Amino acid sequence: MEFSSKLLERAVNEMSQLPGIGKRTALRLVLHMLKQPKEQATALSEALLNMRNDVKFCKSCYNISDVEICEICSNPVRDQSIVCVVEDVRDVMAIENTNSFKGLYHVLGGKISPMDGIGPHDLNVQSLVDKVKEGKIKELFFALSSTMEGDTTNFYIFKQIQDYNIFTSTIARGISVGDELEYADEITLSRSIVNRVPFENSLKL
Ligand SMILES: [Zn+2]
Repeated sequence: MEFSSKLLERAVNEMSQLPGIGKRTALRLVLHMLKQPKEQATALSEALLNMRNDVKFCKSCYNISDVEICEICSNPVRDQSIVCVVEDVRDVMAIENTNSFKGLYHVLGGKISPMDGIGPHDLNVQSLVDKVKEGKIKELFFALSSTMEGDTTNFYIFKQIQDYNIFTSTIARGISVGDELEYADEITLSRSIVNRVPFENSLKL
C-alpha cells in the first residue's frame, strides 16, 4: 500500500495492529476519522490512553475495575460464599447480563494450554486455591468453556482444592461443546447457571 503521507501511513499501521483489522479496513477507519471533527479523534485517543494507564485489576477477583476492589467484590448483597471461576472479563460480563448469579467471581486470565505454553502458574490459580484454604468459600462454580483447555483447567483446580470439603459445580451443558460463554444467548446461559451440576458428574460424562 502506497501512502501520500507518512502521518497517514503511521495511523493506518497502528490501527492495523488491532485483531481482525487488515490494512484496508484500517485505511477506511483512519480516513473516516479524518472527516470527523478533531474532537472525536481526541476523545477516542484519550479514552484509550486513560483506560490503558489507569484501569486496574481487582485485587481479589482480577476483574477489570477502576478501583482496587471491584464493585462486585465490595457489594455487601452478593453471596461471598459462592465463587464463579471464569477465564476472562468477558465471561464476567456475560454472566452478569443474565442476572442469574449473585456470588463473586475469580478471573483466571486464561486457560491451561500446554500447546501454547500456558501453565497454571501463568494464571490466577494459586490465589484461588488460597481463597479456598481460607475457608470462606462454600461453593466453587466452574464456568469455563467446555473445550479441552477448559476441562483441563477445571480438573487441575479441582485436584488442588479436592481435600478442602467445599461443593464444586459446573455449568449445565445447555451450551454445546466448544461454545464460548460470551456467545451463548442469555436465556441458555442463565438456565445453565441456575441448573448447574456437581462437578463430579461432569467427570463421568
Ligand atoms: Zn473483584
